[in-house]
Amino acid sequence: MNKRDLVKKLGVSLLLVGMVITAGCSQKDEVTSEKEKAVKIYKWKMVTTWPKNFPGLGTGANNVAELITKMSGGRITVKVYGAKELVPAFEVFDAVSRGTAEMGHGAAYYWKGKNEAIQFFSTVPFGLTAQEMNGWLYHGGGLKLWTEVYAQYNLVPAAAGNTGVQMGGWFNKEINSLADLKGLKMRIPGLGGEVFKRAGGTPVNLPGGELYTALQTGALDATEWVGPYNDLAFGFYKVAKYYYYPGWHEPGTTLEAIINKEAFDALPEDLQEIVLSACKIVNQDMLAEYTARNNAALNTLVNEHKVQLRAFPDDVLKELRKISDEVVAELAGKDETAKRIYTSFKKYREQVNDWHEISERAFMRARTLK
Ligand code: CA
Repeated sequence: MNKRDLVKKLGVSLLLVGMVITAGCSQKDEVTSEKEKAVKIYKWKMVTTWPKNFPGLGTGANNVAELITKMSGGRITVKVYGAKELVPAFEVFDAVSRGTAEMGHGAAYYWKGKNEAIQFFSTVPFGLTAQEMNGWLYHGGGLKLWTEVYAQYNLVPAAAGNTGVQMGGWFNKEINSLADLKGLKMRIPGLGGEVFKRAGGTPVNLPGGELYTALQTGALDATEWVGPYNDLAFGFYKVAKYYYYPGWHEPGTTLEAIINKEAFDALPEDLQEIVLSACKIVNQDMLAEYTARNNAALNTLVNEHKVQLRAFPDDVLKELRKISDEVVAELAGKDETAKRIYTSFKKYREQVNDWHEISERAFMRARTLK
């Protein structure tokens, strides 16, 4: 073997040894890292848009945290922070996106300033009920789109609670026509707020914890919040006379859990599944809780606190629905993402409406036939 061949052979051998070492290392690193991940204790923080321990919403966030800890046998602990404890209510999205906290709990329509299309993932006026929303998210392509959109913000989304159909809101005057909404300053978030604006009102968005004082001082003329169970807890009956239904603007609002994407990706697969499963459990449980508690709270409001319960007149609802359809369709024209979400949502709503016409609606009617 001449010198040149020897150098060549040696080079190839070294290269092969190098490849084996490299492969060995990477396999070893991966195994070690998976083992490390499995035994590591993850200490997470969850920031929320709700007052700490607020019935339904705040306790729902607590339930997500507790379930994650229990189901993981303590491998992840999640400490929950109420609004303003770590960050203000409306900074939850940014805080989780940049990793100040690993998780957040809120509602997608609070972040419409980021991307208006995000609002489809909380609620749309005259849109979907809770049951329908879950159908769209889990089996109609909704969650897939949501995941895709939130990835741009370094977030993983999960449905983590639903209020069911909300109430129309608290007013100090009767609403007999659309003209009665003109000039009213009302807390009403999301797309419902835009509809209210086109009907002549002034929508504002404030965190729940600020609503009572705003109504009391006259900073607001009217407000909506959730439904009887939550509205009783805030004591709105002390500062408003009329309680209107139905919540045309929020027919089944999905609350969201958001997870910092890097924190999520760093988890072993079983813990990722536990985090998402805990959200799914609470998504269903919160709806069950509202369904069970709303009517008792409504009775207390009407019988003990003498609240005047009122239905929006049909003409008002028809006009609001017309404006809502325009607002939602316009949103679809904003960009390609909004169009894709709208197209999926609209197609789903049409088919589920046909089905529910002969199932849910027909049954509800049958149950009360005289
Ligand atoms: Ca609401």
